Amino acid sequence: MTLPPLTRLASTPTSSDGIPHGPLPRRPQPRIAVVGGSLTGCTAALLLRQAGFDQVTVYEAAPHSAPRGGGLIGLEHPALDTLDRLGIDQDEIVAHRSETIWQVTVRARQHTHTARRTYPGRNTTWNLLHTALTARLPDGMLHTHRRVTGLTGRQGQPLLHFTDGTTRHADLVLFADGRTSTGRRLLDPDRPLRYAGYVAHRGHAPTPDTPLHDFLRLEPEPGCQYNVAPVPGGLDWTFYLNCSPTDYTHRFGAPPEQRVFALPQHVSPTAHAHVNDHATRLLPAEHAATVHTTSTRMAVPVMDIDPPTRMVWPIGSGWAVLLGDALAPVRPHTARGANNGIEQAAGLTTALTQHHRHGADLAAALRGWQQRHLPAAVAAVLRGPAIGARLGLGGLSTHTPEP
Ligand SMILES: Cc1cc2nc3c(=O)[nH]c(=O)nc-3n(C[C@H](O)[C@H](O)[C@H](O)COP(=O)(O)OP(=O)(O)OC[C@H]3O[C@@H](n4cnc5c(N)ncnc54)[C@H](O)[C@@H]3O)c2cc1C
Repeated sequence: MTLPPLTRLASTPTSSDGIPHGPLPRRPQPRIAVVGGSLTGCTAALLLRQAGFDQVTVYEAAPHSAPRGGGLIGLEHPALDTLDRLGIDQDEIVAHRSETIWQVTVRARQHTHTARRTYPGRNTTWNLLHTALTARLPDGMLHTHRRVTGLTGRQGQPLLHFTDGTTRHADLVLFADGRTSTGRRLLDPDRPLRYAGYVAHRGHAPTPDTPLHDFLRLEPEPGCQYNVAPVPGGLDWTFYLNCSPTDYTHRFGAPPEQRVFALPQHVSPTAHAHVNDHATRLLPAEHAATVHTTSTRMAVPVMDIDPPTRMVWPIGSGWAVLLGDALAPVRPHTARGANNGIEQAAGLTTALTQHHRHGADLAAALRGWQQRHLPAAVAAVLRGPAIGARLGLGGLSTHTPEP
């Protein structure tokens, strides 16, 4: 297999304090196309830029950034450290300072048992983190309203195709295009999404009279889980409830495989009433009230996928990789989706830097990256259905074990 001739530096430049910084290339740099400008894509682009790669372009399908399903997002220390190194202060992104999670068993709408856990990380929100990331992208790096539809290896180099018929060459393509990834469909087409049989209903409620300081996880009965935590300007809640595919279509206007994020305009009055009824029947009064007072809601159907077996593909004389939800969308209970994407982006930057700055073999560097990060992605994919089964959630999606 011929490797793309990514350039190599003769020496590593240093700043006046003697600390090595990103290379200042004397030869043309590899063109790196990042497909998807959400959490994983923006993090990868910023890390690559910080490492000295100056031919990085992010192609984002949306005309502008719209919040997706993930409101509150728990980030573990490796991801937080990566963001630290990008100069993103925790004060800018942390939704609440507490590391405490209260796990509460509820019966007949009363707390019956409470366990305290300490989360090895902090909670952010999609909005806080995405705003912090995009604010740091250099001018001209992010191209919105650019939906990638295809990838070919014509003329030796990977060639990206867009909806408007235009094309762009790249040496390396990073697909960070999320749960319904075009990259995954092109590179790894035998791993479609399967609806797991339940929905994460979400809402942002006004700040309650009695303020909440920690993350609360309520488990009222099999087939239901309710999480709530403070975020700037109120409370973020997620209410997991079983839902047949037919009911999903009825409540959100399209089947779950098609409508993988139900935005506020897709949430029907029937869906609203369904969630309110369950809150009334299952949750302690103050939490039911939180749900009832939330006017704007979203919903995410929980999906499964076969575990990935690879992350890297040669395309002509170049390469394409899958990372973040594009590689392996995992069930939200695992709290690993964004963590995986950020850790993979950091690991990929390390591998590419070793190649570009120190002449490491590129195929081996990418293989090493895959070997380090694939097990965590597989583990998270497998863990989701196990958590769902413990909670009595889902059961529609049969899992294909890793070969
Ligand atoms: C209820 C809930 C709770 C969660 N909690 C946690 C948690 O606690 N911890 C955690 O780590 N994770 C959590 N997650 C998961 C986390 O939100 C996701 O894993 C993460 O947002 C995925 O980021 P991403 O950038 O990989 O993909 P996405 O955020 O899906 O971004 C993909 C981007 O690609 C763009 N795109 C798509 N197709 C194309 C195309 N063809 N061309 C160009 N652009 C394209 C999209 O417009 C989008 O901007 C949770 C998710 C949910 C739903």
